[in-house]
Amino acid sequence: MKKGRAKTDMMQEVFGKLRSLQDVLAKKYEIEREITEIPKALTTKTELLNRLKKTYIERDALLEESRERVKKLRQRLADAEHERELYEKQMDLIKTQREYEALDKEIKDATEKEQQLRKDILREEKEVEELQGGLAKEESMIKLQEEELQVEQEKTKNESDAKKKQLSSLKKEEDKIVPGLDEEILFKFERIIRSKSGIGIVAVRDAVCTGCHMILPAQFENEVRAGEQILFCPYCSRILFYSESEEEGSSFREEDSGSLADLFEEEEEEVEEDEELEEEEEEEEEEESDV
Ligand SMILES: [Zn+2]
Repeated sequence: MKKGRAKTDMMQEVFGKLRSLQDVLAKKYEIEREITEIPKALTTKTELLNRLKKTYIERDALLEESRERVKKLRQRLADAEHERELYEKQMDLIKTQREYEALDKEIKDATEKEQQLRKDILREEKEVEELQGGLAKEESMIKLQEEELQVEQEKTKNESDAKKKQLSSLKKEEDKIVPGLDEEILFKFERIIRSKSGIGIVAVRDAVCTGCHMILPAQFENEVRAGEQILFCPYCSRILFYSESEEEGSSFREEDSGSLADLFEEEEEEVEEDEELEEEEEEEEEEESDV
């Protein structure tokens, strides 16, 4: 009987540890998730910046082409002017009406060509101007985005550093709780907490798992109530502990109410149970190999 009590007490301690561990792990996994979320905002901003830069490069190439066209048109205009001037000089040398008419037509054609080229140049120059204006705007937008990105990067780094700090202090808490807990149980427990949104240990109340609200088999409930081993809900895989109807079991309420009371109590218990400790440890080993 005494041995049974000791075992139950020991299991109560394990359940208590698991509950504390659950709080730490849930926070830890949440922060880990947040850390992976942080760079996403940064990725969006970086992608936007890259798109802006790509457009800029494409437009810049268009501008270069447009400038090249202006240059060629100017060259052609100069050639046309030169041609017209040559015809005009020939005017002084003509002797017949036919020669005059032919030359006059050449001059008219050359003049028309010049006018068309001047129009083309104006149109192309307007295009250059527009492209330049657009590029200037894009350039300032890129600059702005780059500045924003830099600020964001700094912010991200600070956030991430702060979260890493939180993680390491949670890890310390975890390391304090974990010793003495069975590794396999711990492994399962961590997986449950990850997959069941932070809740890995729940009470059984009125034969119902408060994690998934399924009714447990009577025999199974009795085993949970005995509180001598770690049992997993057959439906949601969470670790189960027994709790009185309506209110939670008294031992857990003490733990919830504050650590100071627990400390004193634990001290008293330790003194009382010192002799039993070795016995208990042996039992624990046996149990571990059973699980
Ligand atoms: Zn369940």
